[in-house]
Amino acid sequence: MNRAQTGVCGTCRHAKRLTTRGGGDILLCRLSETDSKFPRYPALPVLSCPGWSAPEAVS
Ligand code: SF4
Repeated sequence: MNRAQTGVCGTCRHAKRLTTRGGGDILLCRLSETDSKFPRYPALPVLSCPGWSAPEAVS
């Protein structure tokens, strides 16, 4: 999945990319585990999202 396909989820720390048994790519929003306002599998591309958060810095 590229940025055009994912939208802002592609750069969000809450996003986790998964591969389906059929070989397709899907994106899991881990924020959905603690906040029901966010769908577990957002409809992509997501153009803006109040839950977006920058990836954690790697030291
Ligand atoms: S919080 Fe928003 S931008 Fe981040 S993964 Fe979930 S739906 Fe995508």
